[in-house]
Amino acid sequence: MLKVSPASLRNAIQFMMTAFCIFVGYRFYLFYQFMNGSSSIAVSKPGAVEGFLPISALLSFKQLITSGIYDEVHPAGLTIFIAVLVMSLLLRKGFCGYLCPVGFISNLLNKLGKKTKKIITVRGKLEFILLIPKYIALAFFVIAIFFKMGPREISSFIHSSYNFTAEARMFNFFANLGLTPAIIIITIGILCIFIPYFWCRFLCPYGALLGILSKVSPIAVKRDPNLCINCGKCTKACPGGIEVETKTIVNSAECIGCTQCIGNCPVSDCLTLTDRLSRKRRPWATIAIGCVFILMLYYVTAIMTNHWNSPMPYEMLRGYYMNM
Ligand code: SF4
Ligand code: SF4
Ligand code: SF4
Repeated sequence: MLKVSPASLRNAIQFMMTAFCIFVGYRFYLFYQFMNGSSSIAVSKPGAVEGFLPISALLSFKQLITSGIYDEVHPAGLTIFIAVLVMSLLLRKGFCGYLCPVGFISNLLNKLGKKTKKIITVRGKLEFILLIPKYIALAFFVIAIFFKMGPREISSFIHSSYNFTAEARMFNFFANLGLTPAIIIITIGILCIFIPYFWCRFLCPYGALLGILSKVSPIAVKRDPNLCINCGKCTKACPGGIEVETKTIVNSAECIGCTQCIGNCPVSDCLTLTDRLSRKRRPWATIAIGCVFILMLYYVTAIMTNHWNSPMPYEMLRGYYMNM
């Protein structure tokens, strides 16, 4: 019988999500070709592409909570953003652990790094210092959007030609990568090989936001000190750089809920997933399955309630795409 482990389940979900994102990227490319007049084959915009616009989604989110208006320009982006926030509140940073394609690339680069046997472990003061930049970047966005921009500025940005074509601009950025961004991306990629999850742990402001929210998540990894043999395998396997063997409950903002610590623990039931509210034990796959379920639930609900596809007429959008 096929045995599913935390590692195999994570790899499978990450692979499927990344393959899906590549498909979405290809569909968007066809849509873009149609909109800018390079192709006459009509292709609809895949809503999921808006999931790559978290800053636009943060603006839409502010508009939603302050004015009650659901973004009509990138409704799918807002829906995905809310689903990811809910995931983090309930199931730690499961989005990072299973669904984000950048997390998958980081996972692959980490596997490559392990093969070189030249992994650099970052802990203590250096880790503390390196963790600061992503929170500074997050603070910058939160202050700018939530404290400096008023409802009129938010609405102006959402309805600007820049925002209407934000996906295409991002597509162009990566398709025509300049020398400086290419050097930066390659450097970060190399750092990710030798310092596990370098981008995710130290630089990503989206991950920083999810990490803060995940602190209230009821689900957490629990270690039984009476069973623990202090072998350190959990700490070695942890993508978040957490010293799991020193914790009783792992409530770190760096925990991505990947359960690799549980999968690598040689002592049965020493590491488990627990619900901190009910104090009940949960199956190790709870975070993985829960995150996929939440994403699908929001997707289906958005489709059924017309909060996925933008009602903006393509003729109007085409004008923006033509004048980019
Ligand atoms: S930290 Fe950022 S890039 Fe990394 S998995 Fe999370 S959201 Fe994706
Ligand atoms: S892997 Fe398990 S037994 Fe080993 S240190 Fe971690 S919790 Fe303890
Ligand atoms: S503590 Fe366990 S579940 Fe959390 S990130 Fe580390 S390995 Fe994954």
